[in-house]
Amino acid sequence: QAKANGRGTWCFYGSEMDKRLHERRRQEDDLRLALAEQQFEVYYQPRYFSEGMRVNGAEALIRWHHPTRGLLLPEQFVPLAEETGLIVPLGEWVLRQACLEAANWHAATVVSVNLSPLQLRNAELFEVIRSALLDSGLPAARLELEITESALLEENQSTLDVLNRLKTLGLRLAMDDFGTGYSSLSNLRLYPFDVIKIDGSFVAGMPHSVEDHSIVKALIDLGRGLRIRVTAEGVETSEQMDLLLADGCREMQGFHMSRPLRVEELHQLFERSRLQETAPSDANLT
Ligand code: C2E
Ligand code: MG
Ligand code: MG
Ligand code: MG
Repeated sequence: QAKANGRGTWCFYGSEMDKRLHERRRQEDDLRLALAEQQFEVYYQPRYFSEGMRVNGAEALIRWHHPTRGLLLPEQFVPLAEETGLIVPLGEWVLRQACLEAANWHAATVVSVNLSPLQLRNAELFEVIRSALLDSGLPAARLELEITESALLEENQSTLDVLNRLKTLGLRLAMDDFGTGYSSLSNLRLYPFDVIKIDGSFVAGMPHSVEDHSIVKALIDLGRGLRIRVTAEGVETSEQMDLLLADGCREMQGFHMSRPLRVEELHQLFERSRLQETAPSDANLT
């Protein structure tokens, strides 16, 4: 039931809306506390390069060790972090953590960090990224920032200025989830992207959907023509991997090669591939 309070505005006591507001405020408090207590962890999904399918990078993906709800995926808390603006400090934490950790990886490995549209519009972004690089010692050439196409919706001069300014640091820009939402090819001409990431939903349709496969092939060709690297996401089967390789896709990530890993597991993966490279071949043994 609703009743008027003294100032003539309406309050809803015990209503559904009140409960929802209360629950939301509680979740927001949870999120603030989690930031203060560092309940987050960055997982890394390795990215593979066609020549020898070697790991040439990894994407930073946030996880939340919630004290009562267990391990949470981004879809369970990133939307609220976006709504409340908390994605700005959270995104900065991920960026700093990813730069610090990647600074220990071998020199050919790039770390990719997802940027929220809100971070992109934040006036401090350039300084935050510059200082994350300086503080970690990670060379800018080994940092890639992933921005979803939807963050660029309006062709907008200030977004262009921000991206051009970021490029002066020497880092790479990737357009994430390419092909979903309101794709506009002119975005590729307007903005200084180095990489397009083909959304996993297209790869998921392969090989059965001729449409999805055609789109994937067209995007690979587009990248080649524009001299933009192409990364395929969501590769779940060896058949998809083989088709992508045959179509000329040179970079890919997906559960078929590796799930997102904790940083220690990623180090073990690096170590195993290093051992494979230096192991004596059969020819040497005979
Ligand atoms: P994204 O950037 O497109 O990341 C790829 C997502 O696909 C990840 O989900 C990854 O675990 C998942 N994935 C990888 N390989 C496969 C596969 O073979 N099959 C399937 N079905 N999925 C695969 P995750 O980690 O749950 O992240 C979801 C989204 O949350 C990300 O999509 C990104 O948009 C957002 N996100 C994650 N971390 C951050 C962050 O630090 N900051 C911001 N702003 N967003 C983040
Ligand atoms: Mg991404
Ligand atoms: Mg993506
Ligand atoms: Mg996505």
